[in-house]
Amino acid sequence: MNDCVLMDGKALSAKIRESIKSEVDLIKENGEIVPGLAVVLVGNNPASEIYVRNKEKACAEVGFTSKKIVLSEDISEDELLSVINELNCDNTIHGILVQLPLPAHINKDNVIESIATEKDVDIFKTDSMGKLFEGVLTIAPCTPSGIMELLDEYQIELEGKHCVVIGRSNIVGKPIAMMLMQRNATVTICHSKTTDLEKFCKMADVIVCAVGKTNLVTDDMIKDGAVIIDVGINRNEQGKVCGDVAIQDKSKVSYMTPVPGGVGPMTITMLLKNTLELYRLYK
Ligand code: NAD
Repeated sequence: MNDCVLMDGKALSAKIRESIKSEVDLIKENGEIVPGLAVVLVGNNPASEIYVRNKEKACAEVGFTSKKIVLSEDISEDELLSVINELNCDNTIHGILVQLPLPAHINKDNVIESIATEKDVDIFKTDSMGKLFEGVLTIAPCTPSGIMELLDEYQIELEGKHCVVIGRSNIVGKPIAMMLMQRNATVTICHSKTTDLEKFCKMADVIVCAVGKTNLVTDDMIKDGAVIIDVGINRNEQGKVCGDVAIQDKSKVSYMTPVPGGVGPMTITMLLKNTLELYRLYK
């Protein structure tokens, strides 16, 4: 068995950002409006604040306009909807992201559905998700897109392969399962009520694990040469960031994403890539 190749999300992310920046430099030289991303944050959830700060930093790095709109925790749903409406009409903004979770008194679905479809940069809307499932959308939710970029970068063959997706969330599990199927993989989706997860994992050529539990997938559960995409972000007992997958004998797997440094860095980069694509399509 060969050594496992660690799939470097940091390096791929830097490469993609560099190419986005080159395109934005050209747009600037032509004196045109540059791509713009708006992030709406309601309340002061510390984790959300960090995510939003990182998104702003990433926008600045590639030369995008970014608008951060911070609203108080007790804002009414109507007030929030009118902020979204203003962004829908703002021609300097090409992508709108509402940072979740929202406070309990606000109906998340009403807010998400109010985003103009041509600015729905993270494919949150039912309409966008439907188009993704039909296979007619040119962008996809950020984390699954980042996973596909990594698989392509490392030339992982998907056609006819058995991919096991663990987790069925709307932002990771469901869309990545659909995207793998669109690439002609045979896909099994496992979730919290799956009995005998090990049985399915053992059959997998590719495992995508997006659960949020340490040590969920271990050496004894995988077949030799499997490709492992670990989406989970957890803290272990020592307080260190780790994924859902804990493989001791790395020679058992052919490719694997590290945590941190695998899927994580790709997510914000895909947000930039999606914003640029919406700009190209609808500016
Ligand atoms: P979620 O909580 O919405 O969904 C978790 C899924 O795991 C559910 O569908 C549930 O059915 C399944 N599950 C729970 N226990 C299970 C078990 N014992 N066996 C099998 N399946 C089980 O989570 P999410 O938003 O999809 O995120 C999943 C993980 O990925 C989290 O750790 C999150 O932090 C991480 N994440 C990382 C990125 C990134 O950029 N790297 C992006 C999104 C999410």
